[in-house]
Amino acid sequence: MQPSRVDLFPGELAVVWEDGGESFIPLERLRRACPCAACQGETDVMGRRLRGPPPSLSPASFEVAQIEKVGGYALQIRWADGHATGFYGYDLLRRLGDAAA
Ligand SMILES: [Zn+2]
Repeated sequence: MQPSRVDLFPGELAVVWEDGGESFIPLERLRRACPCAACQGETDVMGRRLRGPPPSLSPASFEVAQIEKVGGYALQIRWADGHATGFYGYDLLRRLGDAAA
C-alpha cells in the first residue's frame, strides 16, 4: 500500500492511502515510534535488545522539519531537532494510524 498523499498538520501527520483510507498520526507518537537503531536499540545475534541510553527529547523532537519519500516503501522524516535516521515503512505508518484511531 502506497500513500497517495502525505499532509503535515500542526501536531499531526495525515496520510491518505491508495485505497482511500486515511491515517492520522500524532507527531509525538510518530517520534516515539522512530524505528532507527538509536531510538529502538539494536539487537545482537541472539536477538537480544541492546538498548543504549534513551534519546533525549525536547519540544523540537516532536516537530517535523521535512518529509521525503524513500524508495517507494518508506518516509524519511527529518525532525526539527535534527534527527533524521528513522525510515518509517508504510506498514508502520499504517499501524501507527490505526493505533491512534
Ligand atoms: Zn530515531
